[in-house]
Amino acid sequence: MEIEILLKLLHKEYTNPKTELDNWMTTPQFIASVILSAQATDKQVNKISKNLFEKYSSVDDFANADINEMEKLVSSINYYKTKATRIIDANKYIKESLNGEIPKSIDELIKIPGIGRKSANVILQETMGISQGIVVDTHVTRVSNRLKLVENQTNAEKIEKELMSRIPQNEWRFFSQSIVLHGRYVCKAKKPNCKECILNKICPSAFTPE
Ligand code: SF4
Repeated sequence: MEIEILLKLLHKEYTNPKTELDNWMTTPQFIASVILSAQATDKQVNKISKNLFEKYSSVDDFANADINEMEKLVSSINYYKTKATRIIDANKYIKESLNGEIPKSIDELIKIPGIGRKSANVILQETMGISQGIVVDTHVTRVSNRLKLVENQTNAEKIEKELMSRIPQNEWRFFSQSIVLHGRYVCKAKKPNCKECILNKICPSAFTPE
């Protein structure tokens, strides 16, 4: 696969790809959205985050939140009790162990309870414009395998390493976000829409049944 051609086609289709998590204004709010989005859709998160963010904005707001009040505000999302606890614990850690400063590196971010590498990547890319890696979620995993950018690989860290070696660093954010959108709306898990796909001329899996 010619990476240059792949990126060219993606740029033509996705002019400004970005997260579909909405309503956030501050980094702690975005971190809360990311925690809420585990095994849930961005749409489900957006439905509850407006009210949530009217009440909580800063690290202090989230760290000092009353767990019962937060649970009530997020109760329509799956695993809401665990997620409410995670949001508060993450912000307590930032407040108490990091002097309230949200770190600007993956290695530091993943020390925050509840934040894994995928979340750290998306937080850095979306709120600080920093690309230290590539976001590997279920969409990026699926599409990268179908495009044969990786070979039958499901391990997120190995996929990220392989992608980082093939994609130029200045494209990591663009690649992450455009492939997430491509996987969500075109190269879906069931019935990928190869007919409408802008990559169907270069994709080794185009029009092949799963
Ligand atoms: S051609 Fe089909 S399998 Fe390949 S990326 Fe497009 S939708 Fe996915």
